[in-house]
Amino acid sequence: MYNPKSLIAEEFISDEEIMDTLAYADANKDNLALVDEIIEKASKRKGLSHREASVLLACEDEIRVKKMYALAEQIKKDFYGNRIVMFAPLYLSNYCINGCVYCPYHIKNKHIARKKLTQEEIRREVIALQDMGHKRLAIEAGEDPQNNPIEYILESIRTIYDIKHKNGAIRRVNVNIAATTVEEYRMLHEAGIGTYILFQETYNKKGYEELHPYGPKSNYAYHTEAMDRAMEGGIDDVGLGVLFGLQMYRYEFAGLLMHAEHLEAVHGVGPHTISVPRIKPADDIDPNTFDNGISDEIFAKICALIRISVPYTGMIISTRESKEVREKVIRLGVSQISGGSKTSVGGYYEPEPEDSHSEQFNVSDQRTLDEVVKWLMEMGYIPSFCTACYREGRTGDRFMSLCKSGQIQNCCHPNALMTLKEYLMDYASEETKQIGEALIQAELYNIPKEKVKEICREKLAKIELGSRDFRF
Ligand code: SAM
Repeated sequence: MYNPKSLIAEEFISDEEIMDTLAYADANKDNLALVDEIIEKASKRKGLSHREASVLLACEDEIRVKKMYALAEQIKKDFYGNRIVMFAPLYLSNYCINGCVYCPYHIKNKHIARKKLTQEEIRREVIALQDMGHKRLAIEAGEDPQNNPIEYILESIRTIYDIKHKNGAIRRVNVNIAATTVEEYRMLHEAGIGTYILFQETYNKKGYEELHPYGPKSNYAYHTEAMDRAMEGGIDDVGLGVLFGLQMYRYEFAGLLMHAEHLEAVHGVGPHTISVPRIKPADDIDPNTFDNGISDEIFAKICALIRISVPYTGMIISTRESKEVREKVIRLGVSQISGGSKTSVGGYYEPEPEDSHSEQFNVSDQRTLDEVVKWLMEMGYIPSFCTACYREGRTGDRFMSLCKSGQIQNCCHPNALMTLKEYLMDYASEETKQIGEALIQAELYNIPKEKVKEICREKLAKIELGSRDFRF
């Protein structure tokens, strides 16, 4: 009954199709002629189907795996250059009525400190985030229609966009809240959100139901079909993800790609981003109680294969991962990372008191944003605070057209340099500033069009004199 065009969860994420895919991958993992053919197809940069990609994931031949990594690195360079987009999460509320067994926000957790930010507290948090240099946020909240109704989320978005503190501004608010109705997605769209992000957690229906024993999130179909409702509500940019560690990774990988194929088949545009979270220790959560943890090696392979299977989709990695792991997967395909993150409700303005824990999970990468920016530049990357596409209406298929037109280097590259310049002028430490100024000068030469290079140079000079917010 597998049908990527169907709007019914169990038809576009068909368990039977995934099981057949895994059997096909097992049967062919040593079929090196087929593996080579699939790698060759991927090198055309048009992506791979879930079946093809699953064969590569199963293949353990060292030479072929090296080829997959090399191709992922090359596609990453060709499509995303050396730019890495920066963001931070902002937790609004950890009230939640669900029973997700991997998440400390589950309703039965009585010792976690429950908090919901007031608009005044949001203002303080956002000013603290602006003072770090952030321009792009992802807001997060538990699911609780009484404590966190859509009106609260909308009011919070308005508050965030309204705050103009010194040269700071939050220019793009992405939203990670529970699956909701078309009507509420429309409201979010009208509030000017960037990407709507919702992690599937697991595509395995049986596993999903065990991991979400009660609460609105326990409805597998409602959750899995959420992105179709979001798109019906006018949201063009949606972000997928699974929580690796809960169920078998090969199943999740096939499901994730099937979800992307479904969005492309029905809406003509695939996911804007894919996130790759792994389960972490948290208040009353021990990741060792889940049997499906994946090694750093498998994790890197998944990232590389996502990169070559959906070359136009951005890939996001959070501070759940350590500096070392981030370093590896950024090279293989990750295009967006968070920095200086707090996963507690209200941790940016002032640190949480010792006895009050409201975090969602432990953060592995605890460096400041300035340290992360400096580290990226030392590795030759350009930290980008750009939010231009969505503000210029380049969302959904219009963003994909920009990617496919080959004009990215004349658009995203100068935008990255101009937003980095703003960061250096307003927020960077002296050392970071020095490294950044040299990087900008060197990277100006990588703008192909002379005219664009010239305009970019002029704008950089204007930023130096105090102007802000230029974009192509
Ligand atoms: N309540 C919304 C929902 O249900 O989708 C918002 C999501 S929550 C604030 C963000 C994500 O954090 C979840 O979708 C889940 O994948 C992830 N998460 C939950 N517990 C985690 C843990 N212990 N370690 C790592 N990530 C976790």
